[in-house]
Order: sequence, then structure tokens, then C-alpha cells
Amino acid sequence: MHTAVLLAIGSELTVGETRDTNSGDLARSLSREGVDVLWATALPDRLPAVVAAMHGALAAADLVVTTGGLGPTPDDLTREAIAAVMGELPAADPTLERWLRNLFERRALPFPATNLKQAWLIPSSTAIPNDHGTAPGWWVDRNDGRVIVALPGPPREMAPMWEGWVIPRLRGLGLGQERVTRTYRLTGIGESAVAALLGDTLLRDSNPIVATYARADAVDVRISAVAEAGRSPVAILEEAAAAVMALVGDHVWGRDDDTWGVALGREIEALGLTLAIVEIATGGSAAALLGEHVWLVTARTVAAGSAADGEPAVIAGAIRDETGASIGLAVKAVESGDDTLVMLAAVGPWGRAETSQTAFLGGAEGRRRAGIAAAAFLHDILRRQASAG
Ligand code: AMP
Ligand code: MG
Repeated sequence: MHTAVLLAIGSELTVGETRDTNSGDLARSLSREGVDVLWATALPDRLPAVVAAMHGALAAADLVVTTGGLGPTPDDLTREAIAAVMGELPAADPTLERWLRNLFERRALPFPATNLKQAWLIPSSTAIPNDHGTAPGWWVDRNDGRVIVALPGPPREMAPMWEGWVIPRLRGLGLGQERVTRTYRLTGIGESAVAALLGDTLLRDSNPIVATYARADAVDVRISAVAEAGRSPVAILEEAAAAVMALVGDHVWGRDDDTWGVALGREIEALGLTLAIVEIATGGSAAALLGEHVWLVTARTVAAGSAADGEPAVIAGAIRDETGASIGLAVKAVESGDDTLVMLAAVGPWGRAETSQTAFLGGAEGRRRAGIAAAAFLHDILRRQASAG
């Protein structure tokens, strides 16, 4: 199993009522397992379209995974499409039918005849149990060794079936090569500047793959590698990671799944500190970015021009005195032309630090960036404290 195609089935996706999150989740999982996802497509509830897409997918990939279209209604026709592609006829499986009827009896509901198709199997299919709904999935083995997996659309049904049943079985068949990945999370630099620093040689290589992503809270540099020429994926990854850190390491504040809350918490807890924040005219963006933590004693928002508004350095000192937190942090956003002036002050055991900077854009986007600036400002101070002491 080296290649896969993902088909998200449901007209709610192609009219834009529902976002296709399933394909992204499956793609991430498969990539981690070293399987190349060749493409991912959303399709309407139309039999000819789904059948054609399945033929195309099976011509190219070892594995075809569908989500959606397993409901009981006539517009749900993934089973019909797979049966057509396989040239087999579906029939209700007695065991599945008993299980399904029992689900309705338990709730004292009549069994609708339309639901019977959720008990269907074809000769080549095995039912994938669904503990969170009435639609079992299908695992379909083809003579050519390719596999079709059909899962229901609701993510809370799909995800446990994928993780708990499908992935172990795919691993049994031998998935692609082991792929290791690491993400560095950067701040204070734009994606294009990161790309320029990394250079084409790193960014064009196919193993390791080094790619940049502009996220809401960071610019990410993601490195992934598979084994090659007798070298382990970890060795190839570490070499690229050292090169990336040498070029952009000054901007790195976190790794992999780190959020600002996690990254700051790590520094704050290592130093045995606590934090109190006052935000002026930021819309509470710093607190929203950080989340709730035991080390975050207080997070207060203040409107511009209110009695509590004032100099950030004074406010940072006052909130520290008032709450007894070891660090007082104040961030103030002031619209300045099309951009936002961000004023920052922190008072801690080391004394006082103050700065101001311009965040790109005004309005809600500028306030959001002010929150990130506050987190980055504090993170920088804490890092320097940690290395100094
Ligand atoms: P179905 O299996 O087609 O009956 O899907 C039922 C529900 O699952 C839909 O109404 C959506 O809310 C959800 N759903 C279906 N496909 C997707 C998808 N690709 N991503 C996220 N949610 C989905
Ligand atoms: Mg549907």
C-alpha cells in the first residue's frame, strides 16, 4: 500500500454546506504512515460521478478511501457505486441486519425499511463495525490486491473506525515507508522571508521534504523524511533540521503541536513563575491565544479610554502587585493608519521590559496580531532568563 486516493461523497460538500474535513484527517494519517495520497476529491450524491471517480482512483492507487454516502436514504449511494465498480450485487447480511434491528428495538423505534441497506454487503466486502452510528463501513478486497475502504461521513463515526479498525488492518498489509516529521514554529518573520532564507536547494528536495506554511499563530517549517540509500529517516531528518535551525532558528518558538500556551507554559513552569495579563483594546486576543493554565493567574481585558487604560508599563506593574503573580504583562493595541501599534510591557523578578512595534493591518486582524506579539515578547524574555540563569 504505497498510494491512496480519497473520495469525499456528499452533495453537501459540493454545494459548500459542509466542509470536507474527513479528507484532510485521512490524508494526514496516511502521510504519517508513509502512504502517498495522489489526490482527494469531493463528489456529489450522483451514482455516475461516484462510479467514474472510483474507476479513475482504482486505475492509479493501491487504496481508495471513501467517506460519506452510507446513510439510509436513497441519495446515499456509496454502496451502490462500489457494487457497480466491483460488478457484484449487494444483499442484506443476516448478522448485520440483526445488529441493526436491535439498535432500533433498544430505543423502541420501528425499523424503517429504508435502513435495511445499511446491512448490505457484497461478496468482496467485510463490514467495518461502527460503534457510534447505524452505518457500518465496508472493507473491499479486490483480486488485483487493491483495497476500497468506505466509511460513514460524520467525523465522530469515521475517525474511530479509521484509527481502531482500518489502520491496524492496513498496517497488516504493509503500509508505505516509515516517514518521520518535525515542524518548527516561527514568529516575527513572514513565510516568504522564511522561504528565502531556507533557499531552493532545501525547499525543492523530495527527501527530506522541507515546506513552509503560514498558519494563524505561526509560520511553520515542516520537515519530513523517509529512509534512503541506507540512511535512516531519523538521520536524514536530523541533518535537515540542523540546516533549518542554522538558517531560521532565531525565530523558532515551538515544535510540532506546540501552541503559544504550551510553549510559554514550558518556559514559565521551568522558571517556577506565574503570569497576570492585562490587555487594552486587543479584544482579549492574547488570552484567547494562550488558553487556560494554572500558571495564568489573571487575564483581564480593558477597553481603550476606560478608567483602567493607561501606560502599559504602569499597568503591568500594577497587575503584578495586585495579583501577586511573578510576572505582570500588559499589551495595548492602538490603530495607526492601516496598521496597529502594539505597545508591550512586562514586569518580573528580572525587572521591567518595554517595547512597541507595528503589527500588519488594523481592526480584528491587527488585534489578533497584537496577541501574538505579546506572547512572542514574553517568550523571548523568558528564554533569555532561562539561558542567563
Ligand atoms: P453520510 O454518511 O453521507 O450520511 O454523511 C452524514 C454527515 O456526515 C453529513 O451530513 C455531514 O455532516 C458529515 N460529513 C459527510 N462527509 C463529510 C466530510 N467529508 N467531512 C466532514 N463531514 C462530513
Ligand atoms: Mg450523505
